[in-house]
Amino acid sequence: MKTFNVPVIYRSPLISAIKQRRKQQDKMKKDFSPTELDFGPVRFLLARHFGFCYGVENAIEIAFKTVDENEGKRIFLLSEMIHNPQVNHDLQSRGVEFIMDTSGKQLIPWEDLKPEDVVIIPAFGTTLEIEAKLQSIGIQPLQYNTTCPFVERVWNKAEQIAGKNYSVIVHGKPKHEETRATFSHSQSNTPTVVVKDMSEAQQLAKFIHGTLPKEDFYSMFKGQYSEGFDVEKDLQRVGVVNQTTMLASETQAIADYIKQAMQDKYQLNETNISDRFADTRDTLCYATNDNQSAVTGMLEEAADLAIVVGGYNSSNTSHLVELCEEKLPTYFISSADKIDNKNEITHYDFHHHQELYTQNFLPNKETVNILLTSGASCPDAIVEGVIRKILSFYGMENAADELAAHM
Ligand code: SF4
Repeated sequence: MKTFNVPVIYRSPLISAIKQRRKQQDKMKKDFSPTELDFGPVRFLLARHFGFCYGVENAIEIAFKTVDENEGKRIFLLSEMIHNPQVNHDLQSRGVEFIMDTSGKQLIPWEDLKPEDVVIIPAFGTTLEIEAKLQSIGIQPLQYNTTCPFVERVWNKAEQIAGKNYSVIVHGKPKHEETRATFSHSQSNTPTVVVKDMSEAQQLAKFIHGTLPKEDFYSMFKGQYSEGFDVEKDLQRVGVVNQTTMLASETQAIADYIKQAMQDKYQLNETNISDRFADTRDTLCYATNDNQSAVTGMLEEAADLAIVVGGYNSSNTSHLVELCEEKLPTYFISSADKIDNKNEITHYDFHHHQELYTQNFLPNKETVNILLTSGASCPDAIVEGVIRKILSFYGMENAADELAAHM
């Protein structure tokens, strides 16, 4: 895979060495067991795959290069480039300003932009409406474009099935930048509706079956369907695509559920289901699949707790947390700073959008076993910081350096 020029502050020599060794041992990526880092009183089980993905490294390389090459110009990002506070903060400290927040709320009015300004499209991509807006100001919308190719692949898939007269169902978080972008691209080609979870997919299936009055669709899916969506006509032939970072099991279950609904409604079987249901396979990206499979592999090991590191608004990270939470106490933190001391940790409850504070998170026993992973937008240096901080509680400040030296 292509290598990118990412600022060295985001790298961790220790973690790079571990990843490199695992890659050498398992070129086909078949082994999802974690890497054991045994320091005696504390033992880390590091997920097989975690941290910066292709799309994030690509976006970081383009964004920092754009800053370097456009000295003296005003540089804007449409919104957070990726969902990691440190990376966004580093860009802001180099003078980059955000036009919108992550929910699409305008922070800088369009009228303030000038044709000579530089505007960077984030890794999630953007809507056709925003592209047109930039064009009308005189800014080339795709000149500084960090949209991940795996997001574009979803747009292409949606366009492909639209060309065969299928409507598109997008499984994604309706307010997430990527889903808004995918919705915009898809609806320019075909009727489109967004479902955020299985419960919404089940409601949608009732409209496929005609067991709910069609008027209810427009209130239930308010803000999630394309203009002119005709609930009777536009649910007769459908395909499902995803936000790339959803939970793989849920995405598969939703596609299967909708497929079954079409099969039942139109009396179809595996040989003729394609008359009504497009085979999109799932459109999750490789990093989402790898990171979730690595967590599943990691969870097969006995441990006392899990720590998941990443931005609180990061969708892919929250799904790793969700998987861990099913098995053991899990702490979602954005950096080592959230670990106050050996007894206290401040961590994020993404279900209720609030930080929690927990005491005695490290059990008092001879060896503490910790599962450790991070999201696709989290620098490895932050994960190394977490390892170092925990080691310091056991008087082993230098143990990470010693391990790195022997890798
Ligand atoms: S998580 Fe996947 S889709 Fe998102 S930026 Fe990374 S590689 Fe691209």
